[in-house]
Amino acid sequence: MKFGGSSLANATSIRNAARIVQRFSPENKIVVVASAMNDTTERLLEIGELAQKKENARVRKILGITQRLHVKTARSVSSRKTSREILDRINQLNTDLEKTVEGISHLRELTPRSRDYLLSFGERLSALILAAAIRNLGFKAQSLTGGEAGIASDDKFGEAKPLAELSYHEIRRRLEPMLAKNQIPVVTGFIAATVDGTITTLGRGGSDYTASILGAALNTDEIWIWTDVDGLMTADPRIVKDARVLRTVSFGEALELSYFGAKMMHPRAMQPAAQRKIPVRIRNSSKPTLEGTLVSSGETGAGRVVKAVSIIRSVGIVTVSGTGMIGSPGAAAKVFMALGSSNVNVMMISQGSSEATISCIVARKDTDNAVRALQLALLGQGLVDKVVAEKDACIIAVVGSGMKGTPGVAARIFGAVARKKINVRVVAQGSSEHNVSFVVSEGQGPEAVQAIHEEFQLGKASA
Ligand code: ADP
Ligand code: ASP
Ligand code: MG
Repeated sequence: MKFGGSSLANATSIRNAARIVQRFSPENKIVVVASAMNDTTERLLEIGELAQKKENARVRKILGITQRLHVKTARSVSSRKTSREILDRINQLNTDLEKTVEGISHLRELTPRSRDYLLSFGERLSALILAAAIRNLGFKAQSLTGGEAGIASDDKFGEAKPLAELSYHEIRRRLEPMLAKNQIPVVTGFIAATVDGTITTLGRGGSDYTASILGAALNTDEIWIWTDVDGLMTADPRIVKDARVLRTVSFGEALELSYFGAKMMHPRAMQPAAQRKIPVRIRNSSKPTLEGTLVSSGETGAGRVVKAVSIIRSVGIVTVSGTGMIGSPGAAAKVFMALGSSNVNVMMISQGSSEATISCIVARKDTDNAVRALQLALLGQGLVDKVVAEKDACIIAVVGSGMKGTPGVAARIFGAVARKKINVRVVAQGSSEHNVSFVVSEGQGPEAVQAIHEEFQLGKASA
């Protein structure tokens, strides 16, 4: 089971997480995955950016807050007998963290590799504290980094890919003996290591992915994701007041939702579980009696065409145009090649019916890079005349496996949006036919989500 940052926000919630482990322990062998406490990853990112700019006063302030939070929490969750040892280990990590930040500041350089190392402190600290809280309830719990637990990845820092076969083998080799001795491994989410031991991260929200990888490797009965909402919902409850918890969703739907839900779950998290058909449950750690959402390979939600609608914020649209692209078969491939080689991830693509334009949706932070890469690769060859970018955009994704082969869904979606006078900038249908996505301006995103939620009456329980 994995505990998200919101379920490990302070000493009270960490003690609560430990009690959840206790509650399900007698009948089950459990592997625990810990996210960083609350918004620690965000703070560490900020510290890294500031250190690189040598803004030392602000660095010291945020670093101090982060360090004190972990010391205070560790002291509060451990017993008097064990607290010295835990505090020594927390202080050691805090010192290493400080040295890392000093290094970044001294060199004025934050590389993807050093950023991953910096971010790893969040989960290394939280796993240590959660393990102490579980031990305090009388269990044998031990914290491990993702690398120590056997998760090996490539060296694409910031978005590292696990090496599945090697990792699965190593995870079994390292964790099974612990489980056999009734020890509870508490593994840092989000982080892995290259084969030579350098720390990597699996991408934001990566603790879900860690849980799924460990579950698949150990072939567990289920994978549980403890979070701060009652389950996967028809929409983000912060946007839609009557959003409802989905009792069951298929892996395909969860994948689309997580890909586009951005923060709700890591986009690749479902894949290892889906491959081994291991059911995933998403549950609320402050209401552990609720069943939550079950994600499984079964067909779900009969009668519902659309199941959920989600939003991915902060994206940009990059459009290449040129009459030379008409009838030129390699144009889209060239666009992808140019973006791929400059490490820009394309979230959506749409080709104008005239074939004279191709629009790519990328993360807003990548927009300038994308424009530069496309200009360098494509201008002046008679294919493309212009590359332009717009940065005020968000993607709305409408998800449901029942959409496949059901005519008229798109008409209802765009009708609902048009009635709110929202201008749709780009449209694309995922090849899975489990989702229809489109792009609107960032400010109109929430209203578009609400309009679709209403149109398909997602707030009402299905028959
Ligand atoms: P954790 O800290 O447990 O990893 P996250 O913040 O990553 O939690 O994800 C949970 C949050 O995702 C919820 O608090 C909710 O606001 C947001 N969210 C967005 N879309 C959805 C959705 N469709 N269903 C449930 N929650 C959603
Ligand atoms: N702490 C990491 C993040 O905030 C990973 C996670 O919470 O899943 O992205
Ligand atoms: Mg998360």
